[in-house]
Amino acid sequence: MTVPLFDIPEEILELRGSLRQYVDREVRPTEESHAHEIQETGTFDGAKEERLKLRKRSAELGFWGLHMPEEVGGADLSYLGQVVLHEEVARTGLILAQFESIFPVVTGPTPIYMDCTEEQRDKYLSPLMSGDKVTCFALTEPEAGSDATRIRTRAVKGSNGSWVLSGRKHFITGGESADFALVFAVTDPEKRARGGITAFLVDADMPGYSVTRIQHTMSPYQNPAELTFEDVEVPEENVLGKEGFGFYSAVKGINGARLQIAATALGLAQFFLDRALEYAKSRVAFERPIGANQYVQGMLVDSFAEVEQARLLVYSMADAIDGGADGRREAALAKLVATEMVGRVADRSIQVHGGNGYMTELGLESWYRDVRAMRLYEGTSEILRTNVAKSLGLPE
Ligand SMILES: Cc1cc2nc3c(=O)[nH]c(=O)nc-3n(C[C@H](O)[C@H](O)[C@H](O)COP(=O)(O)OP(=O)(O)OC[C@H]3O[C@@H](n4cnc5c(N)ncnc54)[C@H](O)[C@@H]3O)c2cc1C
Repeated sequence: MTVPLFDIPEEILELRGSLRQYVDREVRPTEESHAHEIQETGTFDGAKEERLKLRKRSAELGFWGLHMPEEVGGADLSYLGQVVLHEEVARTGLILAQFESIFPVVTGPTPIYMDCTEEQRDKYLSPLMSGDKVTCFALTEPEAGSDATRIRTRAVKGSNGSWVLSGRKHFITGGESADFALVFAVTDPEKRARGGITAFLVDADMPGYSVTRIQHTMSPYQNPAELTFEDVEVPEENVLGKEGFGFYSAVKGINGARLQIAATALGLAQFFLDRALEYAKSRVAFERPIGANQYVQGMLVDSFAEVEQARLLVYSMADAIDGGADGRREAALAKLVATEMVGRVADRSIQVHGGNGYMTELGLESWYRDVRAMRLYEGTSEILRTNVAKSLGLPE
């Protein structure tokens, strides 16, 4: 159960209802049919075809591009609408691979692509909107994570006007199967982040582009890749946005992405809490339900209070950005609070389930591992705290 705290507009509620129906009717059965494979192999790899089908269906129904502007076929959904929908899907406890076939995270269309030229829209953005192609966002490198200004991937202009790209990216979500990558490279080493980093659209079949390694993680579903670029010749028309201003494109989608992660964390926390409440009412020990014990009640009440607090914060931050707030502090706060909260709620849920919580059959442990990553990508918790501190006028 949740406490209604926010006046959500009717059209968002309707959209949430249709999304729920879609998940129940079309996504859940697919998930169930793969449950065995997931249990046996610990991955969802064998179901790539299903993911493509699901993604295309989500695009057909309009969910895949909801957050994109109408001029490119999206629905221009408000940030509040986006968080409500992301929360809704996450609270059903679908595995991450399924979740990412309904809403694009970094592998589908993002507002960054609004910098595309007409030709780039046809070639890159349209197939992303229809779900026919997937992309990846290749910024992080072994020596440059939080401090992305230190990237070493270099692009040098050749005599024929094309750019020659060399370098290595790692931890790239969806890197293994991307049809093209959005790659950030240094084009002017003197200026670097101040006009010297450019974004390029790089096709995976361009000579010199290779997926050199799959990087296995704590989660069976999140296996980012290392990408290597060896003298890849990229035509001038594949520069995204203005040369030297790649970071300006990159930050376009960041507030939305942070809010979406916050909402996903929120929905998952509700999922963990709901499972724990059910279990506490039905599991009997010492001849009474375990939920009759105050220690167990304490865990559940603490989780309930934290989820409700986070929901209020995430919704109001989204609403504030819709209302014109700058967004950097709001999105950072929402992601920081919700992703730290879900870790605690997940941990308590496993505790309430006792040994069963630790077993793979229940599926809680795999989400427990997945949510851990949320405090690392799209700004670590420490970087988000730094952003908020700056907004409070603290000395740097
Ligand atoms: C599952 C997963 C998926 C990812 N997907 C992508 C992707 O698709 N594309 C992409 O480009 N990247 C991706 N990343 C990379 C992610 O963005 C980086 O891991 C993140 O930015 C942190 O960089 P780092 O790992 O190099 O850690 P570092 O930057 O080396 O940081 C190490 C520690 O130091 C702390 N720290 C660093 N600087 C400061 C500071 N100034 N103040 C306080 N603390 C600080 C950090 O918070 C962290 O705790 C992904 C990462 C993961 C785990």
